[in-house]
Amino acid sequence: MKAVIIGAGMGGMSAAIALKQLGFDVEVYEQVTENKPVGAAISVWSNGVKCLNHLGLEKETAELGGIVDTMSYVDGHTGETMCRFSMQPLIDEVGQRPYPIARAELQLMLMNAYGFDDINFGMKMVSVEDGADVATVHFADGTSVSGDIVIGADGAKSLTREYVLGGPVTRRYAGYVNFNGLVSTDPAIGPSTEWTTYVGDGKRVSVMPVAGDRFYFFFDVPMPEGQPFERGTAREVLTQEFDGWAAGVQTLIEKLDPATTNRVEILDLDPFDTWVKGRVAVLGDAAHNTTPDIGQGGCSAMEDAIALQFAFRDNPDDVYAALDAYQSARTERAGDLVLRARKRCDVTHAKDPEKTAEWYSELRDEDGTNIIRGIVGNIVGGPVT
Ligand code: FAD
Repeated sequence: MKAVIIGAGMGGMSAAIALKQLGFDVEVYEQVTENKPVGAAISVWSNGVKCLNHLGLEKETAELGGIVDTMSYVDGHTGETMCRFSMQPLIDEVGQRPYPIARAELQLMLMNAYGFDDINFGMKMVSVEDGADVATVHFADGTSVSGDIVIGADGAKSLTREYVLGGPVTRRYAGYVNFNGLVSTDPAIGPSTEWTTYVGDGKRVSVMPVAGDRFYFFFDVPMPEGQPFERGTAREVLTQEFDGWAAGVQTLIEKLDPATTNRVEILDLDPFDTWVKGRVAVLGDAAHNTTPDIGQGGCSAMEDAIALQFAFRDNPDDVYAALDAYQSARTERAGDLVLRARKRCDVTHAKDPEKTAEWYSELRDEDGTNIIRGIVGNIVGGPVT
């Protein structure tokens, strides 16, 4: 069985490893010419870590992951701690520690596990078509490849999705912009083993540890879509947006490197149930594009990869039955995560300021129970228990 995978992001690479484990002949094609992911890091929640463990990457993942022992919310204006609690109950309940990981390092780990030199970089797919015996991908350089299956792991702006759905879709602006990057840990910003989040005015500033004594940081700023921004000016923009905020936030703004700070407008897509057309299927953000508000987009892509493996393990001689099983296993779960994230997004970013004010006051009474219950609700339900 030959699989052609389009996209060497975390979804495509996880799928490549998963299918290789089944003995597939796998070819990966990626449009960019080097491993340079957009975005600094991601939080790989326990369900994502379990998928990586299943792919044989337990040790490597743990080495790259930051240790988050506690979580806290801080009043963004006063710097007063609203709540702080241990992550241990969550780890005990789901049986796996989550790991924030620098994105480039996560990508490289996956690429090396598959075989870095076997990835076909600089290959931009321009069209895909299903056929009776094979599916075929055409590239911008005029070449084509065919496989028993084509997996479109080509991200949020997926061309494969357009093919599978029979037309383009419109993504929805979620109402805020996310600035993110990496800085060295600093107790003036937050404890080095804590996920610290400053909140106020529907804005959010967060730091969480990744390996190598670094924080992954991000700032969420509600604003209209399409505001002009010149790369390199994040410090000026954030100084203005967070004027008067707590000392820890000011230290972070001073410490960050504006040249490497990313700015991303956050969009998502209504869930849809058609992930497969004949021998062609979508996976990862191509199949479920979510806001990052519960940190599950990448984890869900990893879950897709394992579900795809299980579908072919259980239907080894029938491509159509296997892809159908993959679609059935995934659409509801992935769609649920998109909608959960959208709900959290609205509360966090003050779509209704009264609800957000209520949330801030709940945070002051929180002992961790409710927040952990919510996170566990996101984590459970994946293919690896
Ligand atoms: P991508 O990572 O987008 O990879 C798609 C790949 O396909 C790219 O390399 C692209 O170059 C390639 N490609 C596209 N078109 C073509 C083509 N025509 N031909 C060839 N190649 C092509 N998720 C979490 O789990 N936890 C988090 O904490 C988290 N935080 C996030 C924070 C932000 C600000 C954002 C924006 C997202 C976050 N996510 C998080 C979501 C996560 O980044 C995505 O869900 C994940 O990257 C999806 O992986 P993917 O492989 O499906 O797509």
